[in-house]
Formats: sequence, C-alpha cells, structure tokens
Amino acid sequence: MIDDFQIQDLKSRMVAPQYSVEDVETEISLRPKHLNEYIGQEKAKENLSIYLEAAKMRSEPLDHILLYGPPGLGKTTLAGIIANEMGVDIRITSGPAIEKQGDLVALLTNLNDGDILFIDEIHRLSRHVEEILYPAIEDRVIDIIIGKGPSAKSIRLDLNRFTLIGATTRAGQLSAPLRDRFGIILRLELYNPEELSRIITRSSKILGIDIEQEGALELAARSRGTPRIANRLLKRARDFAQVVGNGTITLESARTSLSKMEIDELGLDSIDIRMLTTMIRNYNGGPVGLDTIAAAIGEEAITIEDVYEPYLMQIGFLSRTPRGRCVTALAYKHLGIEQPRC
Ligand code: ADP
Repeated sequence: MIDDFQIQDLKSRMVAPQYSVEDVETEISLRPKHLNEYIGQEKAKENLSIYLEAAKMRSEPLDHILLYGPPGLGKTTLAGIIANEMGVDIRITSGPAIEKQGDLVALLTNLNDGDILFIDEIHRLSRHVEEILYPAIEDRVIDIIIGKGPSAKSIRLDLNRFTLIGATTRAGQLSAPLRDRFGIILRLELYNPEELSRIITRSSKILGIDIEQEGALELAARSRGTPRIANRLLKRARDFAQVVGNGTITLESARTSLSKMEIDELGLDSIDIRMLTTMIRNYNGGPVGLDTIAAAIGEEAITIEDVYEPYLMQIGFLSRTPRGRCVTALAYKHLGIEQPRC
C-alpha cells in the first residue's frame, strides 16, 4: 500500500513499478484468477501447484508462504490465485497498516477455518506486532493481556486454521525469527519480453484493445520485466493509437507513443539516465555507495534499491561490488559515453 503523497509522486513516472493512480481502474480486472492464467514464473508455479494439490488432498490449509521480489511482479495476484485455488477467502492488509497489536488480533480472530491472511510489505511490521504473529503462525494461538498493572491477566485464544502469505520486496529485511516460520518461500523474478508480450496480449483481449504482435513485443521490451508497467504502457499506447493512429497498436504506433512518453528502447526513463550519468560524471562510474547516489539524484536509497537497481542490474548496466555500485561498459555504450581507462 502506498499513500496519496507517494501516488502523486509516482504519477509522472510511467515506468515506476509501484501501484499508482494509473492502475486503479484496470488492475483488478486484469488480475488472473487461476494458476493456469498466471503467465511466467514457471519455477514458482511448478512448486506451488504441487503444494496446492498436496494440501487439498490432505484437506489442510497450505503452509505459510513468503513471496518476495520487486514491486509489480504479481505477488498480490498470486496470493489471490492461491485463495481461489484453495476455495477460501483472503483478507488483504499491509505491514504499515497494522499499527497496534489489537489490529492484528482483530484480523486473526476474524479468519474462518482455512482462510488466507495476506500481509503486503511484511518487512514493515513493527516488532511489537510481530510478537503476536509468532504463536499465531506456529501454534494457532494468541496471548492477549487484559487490564493493567498487578491485576492484568493474560488469556490465550485459539485461532482457526489459516495460511499467512507475506509479501516483501526485501527478504533480507525480515527478522530471522519471522522468516524462519514460513514453510514455503517463493522468489518472483523479473519477466522476459516474451512473457510480458503474452501478458500484454491477454490484457488487451480483456480491455478490448486491438494490438499487433510486433506492437505487443515492442511494449514488452520496454516494460522493465514488470507486468504492472506492461499493462500501464498498453493503456497509454492505446490512447496514442486511438487519437493519432487508426485505433490499432502497431509496431510504429507503439514506438511513437513510447518516444512521446520518453521511454527509451530498453525501458529506461529520465531518472535511470540521470542516475547512470551522475554516477559517471561525478564518480567516474563507481564504485559509489547507495546513499551517495541517493543524495546526488534526490531519490530515497530504498527506492533506488527496490525500483531502479533490479532492472538496471538485470540488463547488465549496473554491478554491485562490496565497495559500492559500478556502471558497466554496456551502460556506457548505451549512453554513448566513452568509458575511461582504469
Ligand atoms: P505486486 O503485488 O507484486 O506488486 P501485483 O500482483 O499487484 O504485483 O501485479 C500487478 C499487476 O500485474 C496485476 O494487476 C496483474 O494484472 C499483472 N500481473 C502480475 N503478474 C502477472 C502474471 N504472471 N500474469 C498476468 N498478469 C500479471
């Protein structure tokens, strides 16, 4: 979940993978409901389908699941699919939304047998709240304190059987006791252009958009491995095709719309370019520490780590060394800047 301020902040950036106002109207209709409609992530899907089948055979809820990977890759979608496949209800919340222990107690005690509790950004749960979660996950009980001072009493409440699905962009930030309590850990990877073009084709059928295969591939190649961005670019490319073209997204109209949105042929926008060129011009291409980059380009270190870096690393433009981040020869070439000799 992100707040209104962040939504405003992201409005201008078409290739931001976080949820934004751009996505509000269509995100729900575009979410696949069943595992066979969920494109890509073959490894995670293969294992998950076995766990689902086994849990169903034993008529038991699934073990607790941790989903991790950058924003917009389909963690919430997958949690919804798991609920559908298991035929149970899902309650969706997020780490920062659960402020007090009482909030979590209320959520847990309202779950019916077998239900799923989905906590997005689970790494942002406070320690205080996390303590309630441990016995709930392990023994299906919670201990609550009634009253104050010497007359305070602790009562133990039994919970229904449930599955906790936690989603995080940073598994490393989860406390070890919490991480260890997940029986299933699934890592979601950035998608390749072929998978993204299948996602775009599927979304265009749902939204009634005419798109040629080359147009879909072009949008896919510039979606930074992220379905949420792919769906967003599809909607904007449709606007251009309708107003400037004949309504169909062709290779040419896709290219025109992407260049109007200032997204280059690899999906980089002005912020990526600024980050890379700042590293080159001010720090000789690196190594340069994350906080220094953040201060130099006026972004938060967390945003750089979760949002910009994964894709820049995937396309081989950035490398991480113990002494900091370095711009690679490939990035110099893409930017048309000569790389200094070391
Ligand atoms: P996350 O929770 O990881 O931020 P979401 O689950 O909200 O990401 O996914 C963002 C959007 O991307 C969803 O609306 C969905 O339409 C689309 N999406 C994500 N993964 C897939 C997939 N594997 N197949 C098809 N669409 C997907």
